[in-house]
Amino acid sequence: MYNLEFAIAHVVPAPRDVKNVQTMTVSEAMKTFPTVDWRTVVTLLASYSGVDLLDGTKLDDYPLVFENSNTTKLILEIIAKTPQELLKNYFKTRIVGVFVSCEALTTTTLPLIKQHLYIIDLYPTAADRANFKRFATKIADNIITNVRKMLEEITWIKNDKQTYAGFTDKMNKLTKIIGYPDGLDDQAHLDRLHSDFALSANETMTSMYLKCFKFLAKSILDDRVIIHLDMTSVNAYYNPNSNIIGIPIAMLQLISPNDIPAAIYGNVGTTIGHEIIHGFDVYGAQFDGDGDINPWMSQAGQASFDSMVQCVVNEYNEFNATDAKNNTFKVNGAQTAGENVADNGGIRAAYNAFLSDPEWDKPFPRTPKLKDTTNEQLFFLAFNRFWCIPPFDASLASHFLHSPSKVRVLGTLRNFEPFRKAFNCPANSQYAPEKHCDVYTPSEGSTSNAQSMTSNVAAFTLLSFFMILFVL
Ligand SMILES: [Zn+2]
Repeated sequence: MYNLEFAIAHVVPAPRDVKNVQTMTVSEAMKTFPTVDWRTVVTLLASYSGVDLLDGTKLDDYPLVFENSNTTKLILEIIAKTPQELLKNYFKTRIVGVFVSCEALTTTTLPLIKQHLYIIDLYPTAADRANFKRFATKIADNIITNVRKMLEEITWIKNDKQTYAGFTDKMNKLTKIIGYPDGLDDQAHLDRLHSDFALSANETMTSMYLKCFKFLAKSILDDRVIIHLDMTSVNAYYNPNSNIIGIPIAMLQLISPNDIPAAIYGNVGTTIGHEIIHGFDVYGAQFDGDGDINPWMSQAGQASFDSMVQCVVNEYNEFNATDAKNNTFKVNGAQTAGENVADNGGIRAAYNAFLSDPEWDKPFPRTPKLKDTTNEQLFFLAFNRFWCIPPFDASLASHFLHSPSKVRVLGTLRNFEPFRKAFNCPANSQYAPEKHCDVYTPSEGSTSNAQSMTSNVAAFTLLSFFMILFVL
């Protein structure tokens, strides 16, 4: 089982690239990947979920999207070489075995109910929830406005008709989910979404398992559930396929209306900025405002963008990190480029939003240690504190899209001139190097050479989903 998992992990490359996305019909997939009966996969999925997937399309013409058909091919080869008995045991252990308790099963397969209970527990009254939403939305809107202002001032965007039109369209169509989607706190709404789901008191574990998973499959396929958006996770999301940012309530509980703006914008604010910039990073920028893979930059715009990114790739390639066991490893600039661009652009947008907040310089209670600290410095302290987390293991570095936390702080701050100013960093010191990258910095641009990045990811999520169905 270990060898199987290890082999799969090694053919799933970390960064994604839309160049590898391929759409093929069921009959084409049957020819390309003959070890899988794709007709059965689609038929089973449709009958299993109860959703009319085909909707008039002939089964052989039904389109399937592969995020990386080469990786799919490699995974299928590994699976074909694996003994049936081992495969069965693997899926029983890794998938069925995970849901041995009612709690694990229901929180996974009834995600809206889990999230509803979480929201109600955190903010029991409608007034509390309305106050929270108003506060968090105001912060997010201020950052969205500042991302727009910041990017509008970039020479290669504002002076290029095509690039500017594509950028504006993307910003105009950006959808935000702040805290939780509307209605998730309303029990009547939840009841309606679950009106076709029922469990009886004397259900066996097996029948409960089957009913819950069938309902989850149906809910995903008829768009009741967006599986990647979990409002109970301390995380944030940008989905390029739908041009949506999601900032869950669990993440937003880290800030409160009673905090000073420096603490709010330096903390969750930089994350909100980071997520919006994902729409304009290496991967996200390849999608247009409608979430379609569609290059919207002009050739010249793309060249300037590539040049800006290449500077970041080269810069982060120079960083080393150390894990908890004292193993040192090199940061992979190309692999982490998307996240690094989002970090660099995100802090700039959050900082501008912070300074545009009417209360940005509000006096705050000063403990002896904070006696001489300015609001600008506090913004950066809040940012740094957010990343005060243990480093990941060196052996996992080749699978992470993010730089190690220490590098996320160093890389971001050394490229951000307000940090140097706030702390009076001497010229050419570690945090104020003359040679650095200007990421979405108005009226400046990096001059390094463009180089396209080759990277990809597998349709492993989809494959795992099918595997769940096969096990059942
Ligand atoms: Zn990110």
